[in-house]
Amino acid sequence: MVSRGSERPVAAWIDRERRGNGVVPALTLILKSGGCAWNRCLMCGYRHFRFPGDEETLTGLIRGQLSWVDGRFPADGYGVVKIFTSGSFLDPGEVPVAARREVLARFRGKEVIVETRPEFVTEEAVGDCMAVLDRGSGAVSFSVAIGIETSDDGIREKCMNKGFSFDDFAGASRTARKAGAGVKAYLLQKPPYITEREAIDDVIRSVADVRPFADAISLNPCTVQKGTEVEHLWRNRAYRPPYLWSVLLALSRAGPGIICDPVGGGTPRGPHNCPKCDEELVRGIRDYNLSGDRSLIQALLELDCGCKKEWEFVLGAERPWAMPFTG
Ligand code: SF4
Ligand SMILES: [Zn+2]
Repeated sequence: MVSRGSERPVAAWIDRERRGNGVVPALTLILKSGGCAWNRCLMCGYRHFRFPGDEETLTGLIRGQLSWVDGRFPADGYGVVKIFTSGSFLDPGEVPVAARREVLARFRGKEVIVETRPEFVTEEAVGDCMAVLDRGSGAVSFSVAIGIETSDDGIREKCMNKGFSFDDFAGASRTARKAGAGVKAYLLQKPPYITEREAIDDVIRSVADVRPFADAISLNPCTVQKGTEVEHLWRNRAYRPPYLWSVLLALSRAGPGIICDPVGGGTPRGPHNCPKCDEELVRGIRDYNLSGDRSLIQALLELDCGCKKEWEFVLGAERPWAMPFTG
C-alpha cells in the first residue's frame, strides 16, 4: 500500500517476522515527515519523500497518518511495529517530540522498532521513548534500528556517502542499551563501486564486527531505487545489484541469526540471478527468514542453474576500480 496523499503514510503493510520459535504479524509504517536531515546517501530513494513544515504542521501531518493507520490496521492484528520515516524518527527536526510521543503512545504494549541515524540516539531521546511506551509495568520492548550498512568506514563513505562512522554507531548502541533499549543493525550488500566478491566479504566481516553492538542484524541486498546515484550508474551499466547466489553465500558464511528480506528479488532492480532460478531462490530466502533454518540456505546454495557458472566467473574475474582518496 503506497501513497502520496497527505493523510496517508508513504507505505504501510503487515507481514510476518520470526520471534523465538514462532512467527508474529508485524506492522511496517513508512511515515511522511520533515525529511532526512542528511539526505545524500547514494542508494537512497526514500529521502525524496520530504514534507518540510513548522512544528505544528509536522505534528498535524503525523497525527493525520496515525488516524489513517488506526482505521486500517486494528491494534490486535500485530505484535511488532517497525517505524520508518524516510529519515530518522528520533530527529526532532523531522518528527517533533510531541508527534513522536503521540506515535509511540499509540503503540504501547507492542514491540516497537524505530529507524534513526546514530547522531539522534541520545540518552534523553531514548529515555523519553521508553517512558512514553511504559504502561507502568516497566516491561517495554523498544529498539532503535540503525543503517550502519557496513563496518568498513571507507566503503560507507566512498560507496554510500552515509556520513557517519562505525564508532558513531557503536556509541549510539551503547547509549541505547544504557537507556534500556535494544539495537537493530541494517547491513547493505553490494553498494556501488565494489565487486561482487568484495561485497560478499564485506557482509561477512561486517556481521562479525556488528554482532557485539546489535541484538538483531538484518541484511538488505541493494536495490536500485528511483532518483538515486545508484540508478544513474545502473542505467549506464556501471552497477548491477547482487546475485542471489551471493546473498546466499554471504548468509551461509556470516553465521546464524541474520534476517534477510530480498526486496525486489528476481527483478532487474533487485538482487537477481536469472529468470529460471530467481523465483525459487527468493521464496527460499523468505522461508529461511521465517524459520531460521540454516540448512535451507545450504540446500539453496547447492542447487544448480545455468547462471551459476556466470556468477562463479564474475566472482573470479571482476576487478576493483580504485577511487581516489583525495580530491
Ligand atoms: S539512507 Fe537514511 S540517512 Fe541516508 S539519505 Fe536515506 S534516509 Fe537519509
Ligand atoms: Zn539461474
